[in-house]
Amino acid sequence: MKEKLLECFKKMYGYDEGVSVYFAPGRVNLIGEHTDYNGGHVFPCALSIGTFAAVAKRDDDRIRFFSMNFEDRGIFETSLSDLVYSDEAGWTNYPKGVMWAFEGRGFKIPDGMDIVIYGNIPNGSGLSSSASLEVLTGFMLRDLFGFELTNQDLAIIGQYSENNFNGMNCGIMDQFASAMGKKDNAIFLDTATLEFEYAPVVLEGMKIVVTNSKVKHSLVDSAYNDRRSSCEKALLELQKVIDIKTLGDLTEEEFEKNRSAIPDTDRQKKARHAVYENQRTVKAFNALKAGDIEAFGKYMNESHISLRDDYDVSCPEIDLLVDEAWKIPEVLGSRITGGGFGGCTVSIVKDEAIDGFKEKLSASYKKAFDMEPEFYVVSIGDGPSKL
Ligand code: ADP
Ligand code: MG
Repeated sequence: MKEKLLECFKKMYGYDEGVSVYFAPGRVNLIGEHTDYNGGHVFPCALSIGTFAAVAKRDDDRIRFFSMNFEDRGIFETSLSDLVYSDEAGWTNYPKGVMWAFEGRGFKIPDGMDIVIYGNIPNGSGLSSSASLEVLTGFMLRDLFGFELTNQDLAIIGQYSENNFNGMNCGIMDQFASAMGKKDNAIFLDTATLEFEYAPVVLEGMKIVVTNSKVKHSLVDSAYNDRRSSCEKALLELQKVIDIKTLGDLTEEEFEKNRSAIPDTDRQKKARHAVYENQRTVKAFNALKAGDIEAFGKYMNESHISLRDDYDVSCPEIDLLVDEAWKIPEVLGSRITGGGFGGCTVSIVKDEAIDGFKEKLSASYKKAFDMEPEFYVVSIGDGPSKL
């Protein structure tokens, strides 16, 4: 991979001295969806696939960007004095946003850069290519210019830039999972306090299979921001009757006792998901620690039902992939993962059934939607690194 990036760098910029290559992973969330902006728990893991950068410092303040995934967009040129969002800047708004956030925190970037990006993670499918690009940018800036920042800081800066530069109100999960990833471990993270614990994912005779529906319905970002404001409103309503800081503070029982404080039934359902999903994530984490994968799988299934019926972020394509997976006895659990409205499902499948799983889901999906899903049998990798 390193060679591939260096070769492209030389081709695009005509030199190859002083080039460093970096990597930051994508992530898959095992359970705990739409809880990270509600003060709840999440349970993601970093993937061994992600985004790479080849970069060299320049003598001036120019920045050149090229992505091998967006070849037709060519080279984007900008400068350190022009770190502002623009539609024309396309994908480069993500790395520019991180540079802007560094400068905003007093980490003045002294030199321009020539940059080539390549990702082997499907874009826009809920495996967080955007967060991996942000963490990658932060990691590379820290290494190139010696800034004193922890990986956790890089996650927070990445989220801050996505929220405030790119206008996407995401929670902390994606950037945290990418920046703090640990091989063969999932990260049990309390998003209210950022306290976390690594949990070894020991799957004897089974694998995590990610299925890409390859659909992304429009309005994803606005629907996401809508859900977020529904939960914020529900929280304010609940706070009139019970002393809580976030929806993640509530048990299921406390929620049921107080839910009539939320007059709107739709908003009540959104809040119910946030509360139940958080509690479910805690239970799923404990089940995994106890080696009870069967129970873990059942919580994954319940999570899907809640996201489908209460939070209303699934879609027919995803529901079909999950329904078909549930019919296979060797599937321990299957659910939508990521923000929703398309993207991927995550399933735990016994080794001997993986081929059959792929065949069955492909055939049903093709029949219903005339499309082929894509499958990735994933391995859990480490956080960012210099190659
Ligand atoms: P997700 O994070 O789920 O993959 P997003 O819509 O949040 O989906 O982010 C995808 C966007 O991130 C792409 O449209 C592009 O702007 C940017 N991006 C991700 N990977 C790359 C890459 N390898 N090269 C350039 N831009 C990328
Ligand atoms: Mg994203």
